[in-house]
Amino acid sequence: MHELGICDALLKMVRGIIQDEELESVERITVEIGSLSGVVPKYMADCWVAVCDGTELEQTEFVIEELAGTAKCLDCGMEFTANLNDLTCPGCRSKKLLPLTGRDLTLKEILAS
Ligand SMILES: [Zn+2]
Repeated sequence: MHELGICDALLKMVRGIIQDEELESVERITVEIGSLSGVVPKYMADCWVAVCDGTELEQTEFVIEELAGTAKCLDCGMEFTANLNDLTCPGCRSKKLLPLTGRDLTLKEILAS
């Protein structure tokens, strides 16, 4: 469960932005989670509620957008949408894959109210 640490870091980042931009209050925070990032969106949502408990962001809506990651097969060169639960090439069933996208967790938007 490294989602708790990620949420903690995200909260610090969001607070930094709120200070820098002198936002009065925030209505919605949107993060994008790549399917190959290893972050489980459901845990992320739960942990966010935990880290925001008792803070000024308690009432802020937290939106998670999932981004499908892509990978390239090192054996046959095929590029495809990768699914963490089934990391095999759909073309040749090789497991030698290179992740191309979807490894990141991005703070996409902070919507001030
Ligand atoms: Zn392949």
